[in-house]
Amino acid sequence: MAPLKLQAAMDRAERDLSKHGIDLDHYIRSFKSSSWRHELEQEECWTVELFIRELKGILTQHNGREAKEAKRRILRTVFDHRNVYAEHLDQERVHRALRGLLRLMPGYLLGDPRLSRILWRTTAHGGGASADTVGNSITISRGRWLTAELVHEFGHHIDARNHSLSMRIRGWTRDRVKAAGGSKSLERRRYGLCAVAGFYDTYVGRCYNRSSCRGFFETIPMGLEPLFNTRRMFFIIKRDPEHFLLTWALCRGLFR
Ligand SMILES: [Zn+2]
Repeated sequence: MAPLKLQAAMDRAERDLSKHGIDLDHYIRSFKSSSWRHELEQEECWTVELFIRELKGILTQHNGREAKEAKRRILRTVFDHRNVYAEHLDQERVHRALRGLLRLMPGYLLGDPRLSRILWRTTAHGGGASADTVGNSITISRGRWLTAELVHEFGHHIDARNHSLSMRIRGWTRDRVKAAGGSKSLERRRYGLCAVAGFYDTYVGRCYNRSSCRGFFETIPMGLEPLFNTRRMFFIIKRDPEHFLLTWALCRGLFR
């Protein structure tokens, strides 16, 4: 059972979705049918795509002047030479991916000025992307990377710059882990918590600091990814609707 405040936020998220005619139970039932499984194996998972589009339609925030300005500042970093220490950075593509995410982000998460000073780097190594919230940078592969990966890394910065909110969300992850067998199982298997803790992906339970909930950094990034990835959307709704509701509450400002 989630702590009361988080539970209240999730209840609000559920009401918010139903107000917009989105019935998660309906989608979960649909996901269970074999036709869905078949569809996921196809190139185009159009039903989930439509679902994601519907969600994005609701999430697109009508922001005030301040939020718009914050988004503009953050987007500018991609083209600002002071913020780009990167060869072969496809700036247009990064800009597009970031714009897609920021459109869905409420202003209250974007107030920290460090978000508009993120350094962009590239690496010749593969492996998508990584975030360094201490050095305030995002490193992406010079080659192939997915929008969902960039969204994930920016999610780390949102997590790091909204401390009290993110601590509550990390607490949710820690409580799940504890309920699933506590720190002992955590020490044994840094990633192996998916099945026992009910996360939609093993990566959600990754812990960087075993001694406290400060170590669970992946919940916000892994919650945002599904908005840009059909398979992940399928899995989060099916396996861990609570995590989806938390993300929804975050994007809709339903924690307060
Ligand atoms: Zn991560």
